[in-house]
Amino acid sequence: MKRNILITGGAGFIGSHVVRLFVNKYPDYRIVNLDKLTYAGNLANLSDIEDMPNYTFVRADISDLEEMRRIIREYEIDGIIHLAAESHVDRSIKDPFTFARTNVMGTLALLQAAKEYWESLPERYEGKMFYHISTDEVYGALELTNPEGIESPFTTTASSSEHHHAYGTEFFLETTKYNPHSPYSASKASSDHFVRAYHDTYGMPTLVTNCSNNYGPYQFPEKLIPLFINNIRHRKPLPVYGKGENVRDWLYVVDHARAIDTIFHNGKVAETYNIGGFNEWKNIDIIKVVIRTVDRLLGNPEGYSDELITYVTDRLGHDMRYAIDSRKLQRELGWEPSLQFEEGIEKTVRWYLDNQEWMDNITSGEYEKYYEEMYKNT
Ligand code: NAD
Repeated sequence: MKRNILITGGAGFIGSHVVRLFVNKYPDYRIVNLDKLTYAGNLANLSDIEDMPNYTFVRADISDLEEMRRIIREYEIDGIIHLAAESHVDRSIKDPFTFARTNVMGTLALLQAAKEYWESLPERYEGKMFYHISTDEVYGALELTNPEGIESPFTTTASSSEHHHAYGTEFFLETTKYNPHSPYSASKASSDHFVRAYHDTYGMPTLVTNCSNNYGPYQFPEKLIPLFINNIRHRKPLPVYGKGENVRDWLYVVDHARAIDTIFHNGKVAETYNIGGFNEWKNIDIIKVVIRTVDRLLGNPEGYSDELITYVTDRLGHDMRYAIDSRKLQRELGWEPSLQFEEGIEKTVRWYLDNQEWMDNITSGEYEKYYEEMYKNT
């Protein structure tokens, strides 16, 4: 079937993996990648598919309603996968307004433009989909009731036998009440509410998914895993917030893209699906895995980079534990992670070490100034 799919934020980390998957897997679809190319957007993430005949890039800002109207009409868009966002919690603490503008007003502009176009067609909403990508951070924080770790209640074919822990007995479900704490998560929560409101009010076919922390190739090196790989390479300090006790659930980005593909095609309108890795880790333990992997691949002696760990003042309002229950998606649509965490980390570290030019190009630009300012006291 021919379709015209708009993917927003396709030059970013997760978006580039979604664009790559769709362009390769669906030659009959026209994939329009709409991105503003902020500091986090990088077309080099898509250099392997940019010449494919079913791929088009459009530079635009999602908060520009007139532009969204024009683009959706011009490309006769019938499906939207919306990933464009400001995505870094630390930046949201410094500059919440940019997060409200892009994440809230931008999502609203996109919704409104899609609604107007689809309502103008004879078949209206039939065969259409507005799929909004969100985060587990909207649910707030869980307590760390079991700091030593207990056996995780979840199993997938990718579950690790070595590390199969949970650090508490509560998990985020699709029905968990929203309770965002950071300006980032507050802006994402607000955009999720607007998406659901467009379904409930106008009957627009919408869908929301809330995913846990992603890791993998092409992630902007302000985020923990690429930041640490790069710092180890340059023998720079590894800044760890607080005591490194905070817990996150980690998912390999290609598995997230696979989930998005499954849900876009088979998910039920107006539903919410949690997407997670069934894979909880304390930050300090993740850091040690990254150190061990980088040192091994670079041929450093064991423990060589441990001295780079530098504990820094905790992030303001730092949520203690995120842990997601994504058994609904596993049960209803048959998705589960395909990679064990140990394999995913190995692939990821190798990718960053093999693609140093990609990293150097990014870290020499605007990001460099931001990074120096951010960590000047460490
Ligand atoms: P990213 O920061 O790597 O990429 C965001 C992209 O959006 C960039 O290409 C940027 O240029 C673009 N963008 C920003 N503002 C824009 C605007 N006003 N108009 C058009 N484009 C704009 O982010 P990511 O980590 O790939 O996250 C993508 C989505 O997934 C976000 O909505 C985020 O909230 C969500 N998410 C991320 C994670 C994660 O671990 N990274 C987890 C769950 C959900």
